Amino acid sequence: MNTYDKLHMLIDLTTEYCGLNHGPDTRREDYPASNYIVIPFGYQENAVTEVSVRDLVIPICLECSQALTQDEWTLIYCFECNNSRWLLRKYAKNDYRHHIIFLHGCPDCSNEFGGLYFCEEPKEQFVYQPMAAVAG
Ligand SMILES: [Zn+2]
Ligand SMILES: [Zn+2]
Repeated sequence: MNTYDKLHMLIDLTTEYCGLNHGPDTRREDYPASNYIVIPFGYQENAVTEVSVRDLVIPICLECSQALTQDEWTLIYCFECNNSRWLLRKYAKNDYRHHIIFLHGCPDCSNEFGGLYFCEEPKEQFVYQPMAAVAG
């Protein structure tokens, strides 16, 4: 992602809303985006060639960006249908350690389940900080 793209995203922030799930009785408009998570997705063609397919960009609100940098919650996000849900790790059946688990297909969409993609440290690697970018 180049500087021009990032600037463009910055401007768009003022009109974006959180792309993550806040529960059944919430309105998207109540959660203005304050940040983006940018996840570069690629696949390994062979041992030497890595092909970058696309960047997945999700606008997120302050509340969600805080949840993603703490260890209480794990976000499950399906990038086939963009549905997401939060798991409180304390009550989860499995022992979740990742901040984000991406699904290729989920029970909410008709896509066949195609695997998992784990995201360990969204804070350092993937959260785009608009203020820091402007200062730099
Ligand atoms: Zn949110
Ligand atoms: Zn899905």
